[in-house]
Amino acid sequence: MNPETREELRVHLEQRRRKLIEEGDLRAEPNRDEQSIRLDEDAQPLNEMNQAITSRRNQIRAQELKGIDVALRRLEEEPDEYGRCVECDEWIPLGRLKLMPWAQRCVPCQSDRGGPQRGYRRRHARDFVD
Ligand SMILES: [Zn+2]
Repeated sequence: MNPETREELRVHLEQRRRKLIEEGDLRAEPNRDEQSIRLDEDAQPLNEMNQAITSRRNQIRAQELKGIDVALRRLEEEPDEYGRCVECDEWIPLGRLKLMPWAQRCVPCQSDRGGPQRGYRRRHARDFVD
């Protein structure tokens, strides 16, 4: 990866990081708002659902932020290693890094990390003999 591309991705990472921090944690609607609003029975389950969605969103954001920090540290400490998959040591395609510069794994390794669908499998030469 040439230094210009690296710099471009670093800027992208920092912008994304700033944005995530500026947005801050999404506030869940308070479950019970003192005595001013009394939620009727229909509103309660919806309210709980909204809270669940919000906290899930915060969780995703926190993970992304963590990934960004890891990527930025790597860019600083070992720039030549930035973009290498932490699982298989292959280079992550630049197209993937441009979409998510915090990616630490190539697509095959990412899909190998559990999840209900394990559809993707790399083929070996011996699959074709016989
Ligand atoms: Zn990999």
